Amino acid sequence: MHDAPRCPICDSRDLRAEPPFASCLACGCVQQSWPFDARRRDILTGQVIAAPDANRIESARGIIDLLQSHVHGRRIFDVGFGDGAVLAAGARKSWQVAGIDLAPACLAGVPDLEATIEIGDFLTRDNERGDDAGSYDVVMFSYSLEQMDDANVAMQGASALLSPGGIVYVELVPLSELHDRGPDRARNELPQRVLFPEAQHIRELLWKHGLTIEDETVGVGWRWIARSR
Ligand SMILES: [Zn+2]
Repeated sequence: MHDAPRCPICDSRDLRAEPPFASCLACGCVQQSWPFDARRRDILTGQVIAAPDANRIESARGIIDLLQSHVHGRRIFDVGFGDGAVLAAGARKSWQVAGIDLAPACLAGVPDLEATIEIGDFLTRDNERGDDAGSYDVVMFSYSLEQMDDANVAMQGASALLSPGGIVYVELVPLSELHDRGPDRARNELPQRVLFPEAQHIRELLWKHGLTIEDETVGVGWRWIARSR
């Protein structure tokens, strides 16, 4: 039995539960209330992954172009790679690609990349002492950070995988943007989604791990690019 989690943003234990959500009284960040919905694991593991369509392939290519404008090296680790579109776009541009996802169905999207991708849980992966610690130019969380049980541990793992001067890429929809899209939008993302941060909370999480924010882009999802020392 786990204890109720701390706030992943500010580490406070002062969380006010209003199921299905809980808010941190110190920083205001909202999470799924504890205990997290027991169906999550099965839903995430059993996801059916649609093959990327032309729009998705184009947007994945755009993400690789954006990353190339920020780093010289071409080694990427994609946390929760899903349909594998970003990894496939990277591989076509001679990036060394790797990643992890909970859903075995994800392998179907990138059959030729099976050697370097893993099915499993990023939070229990040995990111700090594994063979590939400190070896990536980019660690990516594209709509995956908010699904992790503990975003703080996830960011710690990302920092451990980065080479000096490497970047973390985060893309997600902040809570107030969800509210703008309709009263039930936040609730509709349950039970898969744990974290419902505002943009300020993501900035604080990146800073907490010694990362410097270089870019913040407001779009369908907000994007942050933050560099390690
Ligand atoms: Zn907090």
